[in-house]
Amino acid sequence: MNKAFVRVWLRRAGWAAAVLLIVFVAWGYMFMPGMLMNAVNRATSHGPYAVSEPAQTLHNRLHVADLHCDALLWCRDLLKRDTRGLVDVPRLIEGNVSLQVFSAVTRMPLLSSFTSTRNVGDVLMPLVYFQGWPAATWFSPRERALYQAGVLDKDAQASNGLLTILRTKEDMDRYLERRKENPKITAGLLSIEGLHALEGDLENVRVFFHAGYRMMSPSHFFDTEVGGSAQGLEKGGLTDFGKRVIKFMEQLHITVDLAHASPKLFDDVLDIASRPVVVSHGGVQGACNNARNLSDDQLRRLAQNGGLAGIGFWNMATCGEDVDSILRAIQHAVAVAGVDHVALGSDFDGATRAPFDASGMALLTQGLMQAGVPEADIAKIMGENAFRVLRENLPSEKDSSSIPQPQ
Ligand SMILES: [Zn+2]
Repeated sequence: MNKAFVRVWLRRAGWAAAVLLIVFVAWGYMFMPGMLMNAVNRATSHGPYAVSEPAQTLHNRLHVADLHCDALLWCRDLLKRDTRGLVDVPRLIEGNVSLQVFSAVTRMPLLSSFTSTRNVGDVLMPLVYFQGWPAATWFSPRERALYQAGVLDKDAQASNGLLTILRTKEDMDRYLERRKENPKITAGLLSIEGLHALEGDLENVRVFFHAGYRMMSPSHFFDTEVGGSAQGLEKGGLTDFGKRVIKFMEQLHITVDLAHASPKLFDDVLDIASRPVVVSHGGVQGACNNARNLSDDQLRRLAQNGGLAGIGFWNMATCGEDVDSILRAIQHAVAVAGVDHVALGSDFDGATRAPFDASGMALLTQGLMQAGVPEADIAKIMGENAFRVLRENLPSEKDSSSIPQPQ
């Protein structure tokens, strides 16, 4: 084979590779995020949902709150009603959801497993890149969290009062006052899933506070510098750095979220917590037995702490894909922890499949009614408990002006 022949074919191969790369990048920009979002976030049924009149009447009187969704990860306009994903502002308002916690996911390892996830690779990088997030976010979990807070901020500002972000007790009080006049509005509270986002720097707790974050979980799918994950390799407890992080979060009035925490981390945090904690989204082993879900002992400890178990809507949390599975998990949690310590944590848009989207929350009210749960208890589970605990933990406006130093 002569050299000229090889050169011609190498050049052709180079051109073919360049064309393929361009096609891949164009596909990535145009279709990849939408295809992925559609593939991983699904509702088994779509609205309008059939809800009886008495159930709808009761539901309309409730302050419904959901402690977790991952909608900020997906670049779509949350102010527009979408058929993709499970939550946006119009669907929250349709579902009479008064408060939605919006969580920032900032890193997902390449091979996430339910029992032992190694922190290697980052599947979010191509998603972040193709969604056109700023270059600073391509490799930095901290920047990804800050960017997502900015997105919700802009949405709230552009919403004509339809979406309010709650950062202080007074924000919540004013919002609830306003909602008495006009129930067709909703609110958001910012949280972070996994404190690898601190990038090892305690000072970033304050940076996140200033960005509006009021809830954070020490770990997500993998062990972090703060503490172990139920799905991590070591599943360790709270580290020395983690203790300082938890103390500083409490000083700043940021709610500690123990979703995804290893059992050891769960115990270590509750040993030192001086405020109520939440487990924003998950299930209970009494209704669906796996390592990610809360044991009865953990439910009792949460109740002693004054905290909340936010019951998830997806298969791994409830061992089912219907409303009844969610109800079973709620009822077990109520039986063990007491009705004051149970809330909702849908995990909408968290790569999950749910029986309904945010517009169908009245199905849960209906299910609880049919199960004979008293109205006052339904009100607590559907949101009053969440409002109580979050309000207790939120800073008041005077606290925010004198932010303490980390110890
Ligand atoms: Zn999660």
